[in-house]
Amino acid sequence: MSFSPHVKERVRKRANGCCCFCEQRSLSLEIHHIVPQAEGGPDTEDNAAPLCPNCHSDYGGNPEKRARIREMRDHWYTKCEAKFAENTESKKISDTIQNLPSKEDIERIAVRNASYVLGASEGGKSSLEHSRYSFVRKEFVHPLIVRELLGWISDSTETVTSVNIASSNESNRFYGEFKINPRDGRSWVKWTSSEGEFFVYAHIATSPSGVEMVECYDCGGGSGVFGSVGLFCLEFDRALGEDHEGKVSTHERVILKTLGSIGLGDRYKGEITYEDGFLVVGPDNGLFNRGLEVYRKLPIR
Ligand SMILES: [Zn+2]
Repeated sequence: MSFSPHVKERVRKRANGCCCFCEQRSLSLEIHHIVPQAEGGPDTEDNAAPLCPNCHSDYGGNPEKRARIREMRDHWYTKCEAKFAENTESKKISDTIQNLPSKEDIERIAVRNASYVLGASEGGKSSLEHSRYSFVRKEFVHPLIVRELLGWISDSTETVTSVNIASSNESNRFYGEFKINPRDGRSWVKWTSSEGEFFVYAHIATSPSGVEMVECYDCGGGSGVFGSVGLFCLEFDRALGEDHEGKVSTHERVILKTLGSIGLGDRYKGEITYEDGFLVVGPDNGLFNRGLEVYRKLPIR
């Protein structure tokens, strides 16, 4: 017997077409029995290792290398998985950003909503309301609102993607005072709990289309401090409500919307910049010194 085409295909896919020993891509990748068939080695995925012809002939027949081949195979699979996850994540975010509506699109949509869906209003207030909330000056967006939006996005199933910023900033749900600490020319907006939890953010930049890039650090009270770059935008839309005479009418509403986030890992330390339409997450010099592993360059228009 030999490996079924299904098992061969699985192994090739998991190894990304590469030899698990020398990690080189090989067009004539061979699927090797770690425990040979002659010794009763089964035709299972677990007993299969992807090897290039060179490594196959060098190490394949050596019984002392069996454990090593298995170990290197598993290591290579893990590496491929991580690479794949990272690529999909970056691609997802970059696709989202590429498809973002421009400021003009948003205004057009807002106007359409206003005139066709909920009727016109007295108007005139929106631009003022719109610019009232900020990541850089008063009135600061409450750090817990930022955390809420980041938290949900990491669930991978999007549930809460936007909040009504005016009511949320005054809501009991996001209570707790926060402090503004100036550092390196930026304002770090920090909320701290009595149990040692904290969440802090600082604005990086705003893109021409209005994407707010915000550097965030979240600590649940333990030693981990998980960084991320949150991408948000402030938009306005219309909603139904009652006026002071109890009549149903429409009013403008400013919403803070999340577009996605980029994970920086535990205790990231590095430089994050926005230049020439690219958000660049610099190498990590933090506690875990992951260097270029966290490096990202994303177009944000
Ligand atoms: Zn090889």
